[in-house]
Amino acid sequence: MKYLRFICYIINMIPESHPRRKSLLLREKLIEGYKKGLVCDSGLIAQGRGEAFDYLIGERTRNPARKAIRAAAAALLLATHPVISVNGNAAALAAEDIGKLAEELGCAVEVNLFYRTQGRVERIGAHLKKSGVKQVLGVHDADARIPELNSERRKVSRKGIYGADCVLIPLEDGDRCEALVKMGKRTIAIDLNPMSRTARKAHITIVDEFTRAIPLLTGEVRRLKEKDAAYLKAILKRYRNKKVLEDMRKLVYL
Ligand code: ATP
Repeated sequence: MKYLRFICYIINMIPESHPRRKSLLLREKLIEGYKKGLVCDSGLIAQGRGEAFDYLIGERTRNPARKAIRAAAAALLLATHPVISVNGNAAALAAEDIGKLAEELGCAVEVNLFYRTQGRVERIGAHLKKSGVKQVLGVHDADARIPELNSERRKVSRKGIYGADCVLIPLEDGDRCEALVKMGKRTIAIDLNPMSRTARKAHITIVDEFTRAIPLLTGEVRRLKEKDAAYLKAILKRYRNKKVLEDMRKLVYL
C-alpha cells in the first residue's frame, strides 16, 4: 500500500509531457527496489549505463532488436529446458512481465546475483513470487557451480541454469555469459550496450531496454508457439547476431 502510494506520487510528480518521463519512472522503480533491498548500489550505476545507450538509440525498440527478439523466441521454444536468469535490477523493473514470459514458456526463473547475499536472494525470490512467478529457483537450491567462474554468479541450481540448454540472461556480466556459452548453453542476452562483452559473447543479443523487450518477447513466443520446429529452426538458421550488433552499433554512433 505504502509502495502504491509512493508510485502514484511519483507518477503525478513527473509531467506527462516530460520527454524523459518513461526513463524517469524506471529510475524511480529501481530506487524503490534499492530501498526494498532488491537492488544493490552498483545496480543503480548499471542502469545509468543502460540509460545512456537507450538515449542514443532513441528510447524505442529498433528493427535489429526486433529481429533478435524473434530469434530469441524461436530459440526458447525449441529448447527442452529453458531458464530465465534474473538479477536484482530485472526483478525490480519487471517482475510481473518476467512471470508472464515464464508462464508462456512453462519455464523456471532463477535468481542469480553478482553481489550475492542470502538475504537479497531471498527478498528477490519473495518479490518474484508475489508478482506471479510460479517457479523460482536459486534461493535455497544453488547447489551447483559454473566451472571457470570465480564470481558469486557461479552459484546456480542444478534444476535450473546448470541443467538448462537455453538461458535468457538479461543485464548480465560478460564473464558469466562466456562461461555459459562454454558450457554449451544457448544464451540470449538483453543488453542496451551493443559493445559489451555480454552482447558480443551471447548467441542472440537483444539490444533494447529490458522492460520494453520482455513484453515483446512474450508476444513473439505466443505467436511462434503455433509454428512447427522446422519453421523455428529456419528462423535461427537465418539469424546473424554479428550483423544485428553491427546494425545496432551504427544506430548508436553519433
Ligand atoms: P560486460 O561485462 O558484459 O562488458 P558491463 O561491465 O558493462 O558488461 P554492467 O556494468 O554490469 O556490465 O552493466 C550491465 C549492462 O546492462 C550494461 O551494458 C548496460 O548497458 C545494460 N543495462 C542496464 N540497464 C538496462 C536495462 N534497463 N535494459 C537493458 N540493458 C540495460
